[in-house]
Amino acid sequence: MAVTAQPVPILKDNYAWLLKDTETGATAIVDPAEGAPIVAALEAAGGRLDLILLTHHHGDHIADTDVVRARFPGCKVVGAAADAHRLPKLDQAVKEGDTVTLGSATGRVIDTPGHTRGQINFFFPGGPILLSGDTLFSLGCGRLIEGNAEEMFGSLSKLAALPDDTLVCCGHEYTESNAKFALSVDPGNAALQARAKEVTALRAAGKSTIPSRMGEEKRANPFLLAKDVAALADVRGKKDRF
Ligand code: ZN
Ligand code: FE
Repeated sequence: MAVTAQPVPILKDNYAWLLKDTETGATAIVDPAEGAPIVAALEAAGGRLDLILLTHHHGDHIADTDVVRARFPGCKVVGAAADAHRLPKLDQAVKEGDTVTLGSATGRVIDTPGHTRGQINFFFPGGPILLSGDTLFSLGCGRLIEGNAEEMFGSLSKLAALPDDTLVCCGHEYTESNAKFALSVDPGNAALQARAKEVTALRAAGKSTIPSRMGEEKRANPFLLAKDVAALADVRGKKDRF
């Protein structure tokens, strides 16, 4: 039942995620955009790969999917049915409410349009772990490249309903610049001030700020604090101009 998540830093500021089902050793990789560091991490973790999970079609999330697949024949690639035409070849095409199986663990698919139309997230209650792709970042959210504020508001509302102790495993290390923006729109927020301080210290020590916890994001992330679509559109617009 229990799943662990380990970040694998790739490219400039992306994270792929190595998931392990502690009961069976079944292993998954999320968003394998750079082969060499991912293959090295998988080999260090036991040399097994059962699943490749794709959150969305952008190159910095999918580029080396076929490199990793070729190294671990038999692994299954899972991605959004809606985006099958612009993803690597899928063994399982999924949509909202579908499940993925990682050994003895089950993950649930959540449709999260906004950054891209076909964006999906994966939630493993046995973590609890959320793979939030470019939908929800620590103290931020994805830019609205294909979708609109209404879609992003709906997506973030679904994520905010997950348990407060959910580990938010997102696709980028953007937290330090997100914190600067967040403080500019919500300077009096004590939870945000505390998180910003922690983030500065982690980055100064060369450490990752991810994962964060959903409860902490709900208190400090200005995009989760937006009360309605208009408020979200406003804060997203400010961030785009920041
Ligand atoms: Zn993206
Ligand atoms: Fe990205």
